[in-house]
Amino acid sequence: MTGHLFNIQRFSLDDGPGIRTVVFLKGCNQVCLWCHNPESLLPKPQVLRKDSLCTRCGRCEEVCPEGAISHDADGYRTDHKKCVRCGHCIDLCPNDALMLVGYDRSVEEVVKLVCKDRDFYQRSGGGVTFSGGEPAMQGEFLLQCLEACRENGIQTAIETNGNYPLKLTARLSPLLDYVMVDLKHTDDEKHRRFTGVTNQQTLASIQYYLTHNVTDLRVPVIPTFNDTASELQDILNFAWENGAQKVTLLPYHTFGISKYTNLSMPYQLGNEPLSVASVQKIVDQLDKKGLIVEVNER
Ligand code: SF4
Ligand code: SF4
Repeated sequence: MTGHLFNIQRFSLDDGPGIRTVVFLKGCNQVCLWCHNPESLLPKPQVLRKDSLCTRCGRCEEVCPEGAISHDADGYRTDHKKCVRCGHCIDLCPNDALMLVGYDRSVEEVVKLVCKDRDFYQRSGGGVTFSGGEPAMQGEFLLQCLEACRENGIQTAIETNGNYPLKLTARLSPLLDYVMVDLKHTDDEKHRRFTGVTNQQTLASIQYYLTHNVTDLRVPVIPTFNDTASELQDILNFAWENGAQKVTLLPYHTFGISKYTNLSMPYQLGNEPLSVASVQKIVDQLDKKGLIVEVNER
């Protein structure tokens, strides 16, 4: 069986305990307005233009058989609905400004690569983390990878939005040593407005993981979305009521904005990041109810 990926990162220290290999699966079932991996959203390959390398020569627009490339005063862009991923523009670009993001790999290929760093995992308490996009969107592929990693003695983790049926959560859970799940908002209407989907499946998955797995709840703190003391308090209350021990707050940053330009995608949020200190100031006012609450840069 094959899955669709957009990256595999070895020797990561940011995506779970110890040294880890992070397998990024392409495709997501939410469109969070602050997403810093927009290349992960579509479940198929995409042409990415490194705008800093583009000299505006126009050859890609001339060669595209689908009329998918156009330009205006701000530069060139690709219409991903029209693009059939023939690769002609990539081959012809004189500056290597174009590349295809997204490729297929079999379960065996992924697990073989993950196993290469087994010694590092054992010494550091690390393992493999499946991330995305939303890795559970490729549920059967993910389950097979997790099973094979477990058979090879590799510790497993997932970074997930929890937005899938409880039946899938219950199948994934026994194969996971560590779960990092986003808790974005307890208010459904606001969650829909900023992510495009209801939070009902996510809240149910969080409750399940908290009961069955070692689980770290992560809260991206986003201006105008969930950065008030009362909204963050509601989130902490939900975490505490459902047995969480630790919540990690991740202040809004803008590192991914250039990727939107490179992918010809609009970016809808503001450009002012939140500092760790400003979020910490809000956290200091909250009733933490015995939860460990960390504010981390990411
Ligand atoms: S992406 Fe390449 S081919 Fe297209 S305009 Fe820029 S430099 Fe020219
Ligand atoms: S990959 Fe092919 S269809 Fe897509 S933009 Fe390039 S030339 Fe056009």
